[in-house]
Amino acid sequence: MKTKEEYFDSLRELKLEVYMFGERVGNTVDHPVIRPSANAMAATYELARGDTMTAISHVTGKRINRFTHIHQSNADLVNKSKMGRVLGCYTGACFQRCAGMDALNALSIVTHDIDRKYRTDYNRRFLQYLEYVQENDLACDAAMTDAKGDRSLRPAEQLDPDQYLRVVDESGDGIVVRGSKLHQTGALNSHEIIAMPTRAMREEDRDYAVVFAIPSDTKGIMYIYGRQPCDTRKMEGQTFDVGNLYYGGHECMVIFDDVFVPWQRVFMYKEHEFAADLVEKFASYHRQSYACKAGMGDVLIGATQTIAEYNGIAKAPHVRDKITEMVHLNETIFCCSLACAHEGHRESSGTYYVNSLMANITKLHVTRIPYELAKIAHEIAGGAVVTMPSEKDLRHPRVGNYVAKYLKGAGAVPAEDRIRMMRLVESLTMGLGAACYLPESMHGAGSPQAQKIMIGRQSNLDGKKKAAKRLCGIE
Ligand code: SF4
Ligand code: FE
Repeated sequence: MKTKEEYFDSLRELKLEVYMFGERVGNTVDHPVIRPSANAMAATYELARGDTMTAISHVTGKRINRFTHIHQSNADLVNKSKMGRVLGCYTGACFQRCAGMDALNALSIVTHDIDRKYRTDYNRRFLQYLEYVQENDLACDAAMTDAKGDRSLRPAEQLDPDQYLRVVDESGDGIVVRGSKLHQTGALNSHEIIAMPTRAMREEDRDYAVVFAIPSDTKGIMYIYGRQPCDTRKMEGQTFDVGNLYYGGHECMVIFDDVFVPWQRVFMYKEHEFAADLVEKFASYHRQSYACKAGMGDVLIGATQTIAEYNGIAKAPHVRDKITEMVHLNETIFCCSLACAHEGHRESSGTYYVNSLMANITKLHVTRIPYELAKIAHEIAGGAVVTMPSEKDLRHPRVGNYVAKYLKGAGAVPAEDRIRMMRLVESLTMGLGAACYLPESMHGAGSPQAQKIMIGRQSNLDGKKKAAKRLCGIE
């Protein structure tokens, strides 16, 4: 397994073509805007020890980072949920490595299923690739969301055929792909990109039904960094105005400008009927992964309770009740993530797959609960969350003393501590960190309607009707 330092060294070796604020970025690792996200990904290396964060590879028998592991039991799935919570709490951010793990697991199942139908060779190729990922402890970016153009049209019906990533050429050596994947979490901190279709495909969409994995610095790939609220605060020099001093997340637009992929890295090629299955498997795994938000919720609850103490209101019955409500809501997320793991089952490939209904329930809660927690945090913390002067004002020779005098908290709590904690709440709920905590909770791993569709499909209403009818004597 790589150490945190080895991980940073490996990132420095990547030759990525990155653009931000209209300029080409050379060194992404030490860029103040990008670095917090690399730190968060690095935490997945730093904390890799013990049964929660590591596992025994079913391919090599060696101990590996759990983010590269294929789940071999329900216990593996449970440990995955626990790992997400631990890291969410440790970083207070999106640590970006889950989607790659979820893509590997989904592919371990679907490549096997395609081979069974078509006698293809995808699973063997995939296992070779997996071994490479495990041996080198690589971070994989799972690229699913296409640009999509006109949402009312299917991939093959788009006016611009590149709105979904597609195959534009093939030869004896491999294929050439063109398109874009949006909202790519942790793209710049990943060694590999695993690209997958974003939706169900029909016969006419065959050129879009393609899955492959390539190094993230392959020729023809470009990254355009996504802005986040307050992102330039990170360029103001080291101040606590950023809220979370160490960690963050990031998303990129990733452009595939006629990128060559060798055959041994292609894991689905025009078997369009398997696209929906892959999307569903990946989505269910990734919806389980949102235990990360319970970890971020721990941080927000801790910050809110601390501010209540700093403000001298922690003992007020209504404040205690609200903090308890935050805990109850936050644990609901974790309960759901654990439940879908416990209720998982073995697929014919040998991989353990979560209970899909419960994984979708987990994520649907995640589209709601963090927003509710943010609301309660704002209510308890007060308007100061958005009105605090900057750190530089606190340090100013003329006004600094006044800031310190009039913003101090209950008892001996210094203004600086109070402002730091307010900034953390600001960051998590509307600043830099909110990109990880709120819109990502809404749309990451699919928007709420996507979960409702899958819940609706798996809701067994007939069974429920039968139970009701039996009790009141209807045949
Ligand atoms: Fe992992 Fe959560 Fe970030 Fe998704 S949002 S990559 S599940 S930390
Ligand atoms: Fe995400």
